[in-house]
Amino acid sequence: MKYANSVLDLIGNTPLVKLGPVAAGLAPTILVKIEYLNPGGSSKDRIAERIIDAAEAEGLLKPGGTIVEPTSGNTGVGLALVAQQRGYRCVFVLPDKVGEDKRNVLMAYGAEIVVTPTAVAPDSPESYYSVSDRLAREIPGAFKPNQYSNPNGPRSHYETTGPEIWRDTDGKITHFVAGVGTGGTISGVGKYLKEVSDGAVQIIGADPEGSVYSGGTGRPYLVEGVGEDFWPTAYDPTVVDRVIAATDAESFDMTRRLAREEGLLVGGSSGMAVDVALKAVRELDLGPDAVVVVLLPDGGRGYLGKIFNEKWMQSYGFIQVSDEKTVADVVR
Ligand code: PMP
Repeated sequence: MKYANSVLDLIGNTPLVKLGPVAAGLAPTILVKIEYLNPGGSSKDRIAERIIDAAEAEGLLKPGGTIVEPTSGNTGVGLALVAQQRGYRCVFVLPDKVGEDKRNVLMAYGAEIVVTPTAVAPDSPESYYSVSDRLAREIPGAFKPNQYSNPNGPRSHYETTGPEIWRDTDGKITHFVAGVGTGGTISGVGKYLKEVSDGAVQIIGADPEGSVYSGGTGRPYLVEGVGEDFWPTAYDPTVVDRVIAATDAESFDMTRRLAREEGLLVGGSSGMAVDVALKAVRELDLGPDAVVVVLLPDGGRGYLGKIFNEKWMQSYGFIQVSDEKTVADVVR
């Protein structure tokens, strides 16, 4: 019989898929790594497991302990999943702008959530950051993973994602492209691929226009999970050869194309990473020997009300709404 003993055994070893129509006319082999096939639906399952393993080993998390983190996104899901399997309590602090679906997925795994007002200064005692610090101090046995500075985030990608890519491309990878949020993915994978290839593999960061990594000031953008207005310590700029920016319009257009032309229902940061990979192929004039691997961090289900909602897309001027069709329109 072939089965996993725990859903946690299914984290990692995600497949590579070659891009088709979206990469038409380009000489290199362009492969995408499908991280939505992790059990919690994103690359963040990897860091959650590694961070919790390390906290247990260092005695920071003991049986009956509580994980406290300000996160509403994929990291929360990863932590909630691992915590559920290991018997820890999870408390997430979320700003009130976070939608119901995101709250519900965390609670579905048994996590508790504390909602804080968005319209307060970061140093207010009611803020997202202050409340999570206070909970970590006041809950007995609390552990705060702090994904922006925890070295086990990048380490998980150094130990798993990087080696998987090297193994699955038979060491033929020449370029790696990933979006930068905390910087954990690009730093861990980048460090591994640089070491194993004697510096030959080029590491390219994808960043939303406006974020600090591509020279912006942190001005707002709509792509979620990537870009920052500060420099986290999880980000190691020494392994990154270049950072290329993408606009929201470019990122969302490519995200929608990936679903329609490649059958890949992914999130906006995935579309952004592919847009940047194609820009890099053109800018660097890469030939048929180049093997470009692009990491796609999560799936598109979490964005059905936004990127895949015509009215939302139209409200920002990204697309024109197509009319609902009549029977006569579709019978052909
Ligand atoms: N895309 C999405 C959807 C994410 O949730 C994240 C994590 N914040 C990233 C990209 C970026 O990954 P990293 O934090 O490792 O830079």
